Amino acid sequence: MARLVYAIEVAPGHQFPGHPECPGRVEAIQQALQRLAVFLGCADGQVTQLGAPPAHLPEGLLEAVHTAEHVAELRATSARLSGPTAVRDPDDPDGPTYATPTSFDDALKAACTAVALVDALVASSSSSSSSSADGSAAGSGGRPQATSAFSICRPPGHHATAAEQMGFCLLNNAALAARHAQRAHGLQKVLILDWDVHHGNGTQDLFYDDPSVLLIDLHQADVWPGSGALDETGAGAGAGATINVPLPWYSGQAAFQRAFERVVAPAARRFAPDLIIVSAGYDAHFKDPLEKLQLQAGSYHWLAAAVRRLAEELCGGRLLLVLEGGYNQQALGQSVAETVLALLGKPSAHALLDPAQLPHPEPLEQVEAVIELVRRQHGL
Ligand SMILES: [Zn+2]
Repeated sequence: MARLVYAIEVAPGHQFPGHPECPGRVEAIQQALQRLAVFLGCADGQVTQLGAPPAHLPEGLLEAVHTAEHVAELRATSARLSGPTAVRDPDDPDGPTYATPTSFDDALKAACTAVALVDALVASSSSSSSSSADGSAAGSGGRPQATSAFSICRPPGHHATAAEQMGFCLLNNAALAARHAQRAHGLQKVLILDWDVHHGNGTQDLFYDDPSVLLIDLHQADVWPGSGALDETGAGAGAGATINVPLPWYSGQAAFQRAFERVVAPAARRFAPDLIIVSAGYDAHFKDPLEKLQLQAGSYHWLAAAVRRLAEELCGGRLLLVLEGGYNQQALGQSVAETVLALLGKPSAHALLDPAQLPHPEPLEQVEAVIELVRRQHGL
């Protein structure tokens, strides 16, 4: 039976007037999940909410991802503020990257939660397979475990680089989770799949020369932050371990399905990860106010089911999703609920949610051309 362990944190102190990255996002997800609980009748232990995560990250982990200067400045900024303040890009029409008196603690808690969920995943896969005494489940070879984890916390993380906050992101939660899996559990090869509409520039920067982390990033081409071209493929020992799939405007589920089947799945099989982490943004939904892709709530069911199957095939089911963007709150709630249904092996409810026809036709010829270029670039 597919199981899910999740954590959800509204972080009410981290908010800025009129800003799209706000506590209402997680509140909308909470409401959607409550409706889902009624629908699912989840009283059978299939869904577990994580208890309070540890207050601190493991020794040295923060420093393994972020510079000491960035961490110190973020901490000092939160300590001296008396209210919400733009800390970067004050004139960005989508809203600045901001901090409040609680932001450092909130960012740390989101990071600690992602890390604790890695621990929960490993414990779950170790409990019924023949893992080693130190808790490592790498290469255990046991029956695939179908426990997924989902960190529904904010602020998000995938734009945060080693030294800089940006794009509403303060600490890079997915990167911290990946490094933790390697350092604490011996899960040496981590695949990060980023399906947020924006390119995960922070994650790319952090692992650009690192062959142990394969980043596959599906995003809208030619929008903020401007990185993520298909010829950005990694450097040095990490050459080839960054795969960007910049999708044309109005790409929707058919585009994502083709990219998944012809790029994500073959690249993942070749890499053979010990853990899959998804930077799960929901701003590629057609109702999202920031950009122009056209996924629907049900598209996230398809994506989550596909990545879950891949995790079961390749790494004993070890799969962690970490919330990134998603700014139409109704669409966000529905899309996360669809994701959860897929992770639990339940059918989609999208027929009740999604329109039969999207506002724009998908540019599938252009999509095919991009996918062919990516496949050629990476020898897939
Ligand atoms: Zn985004």
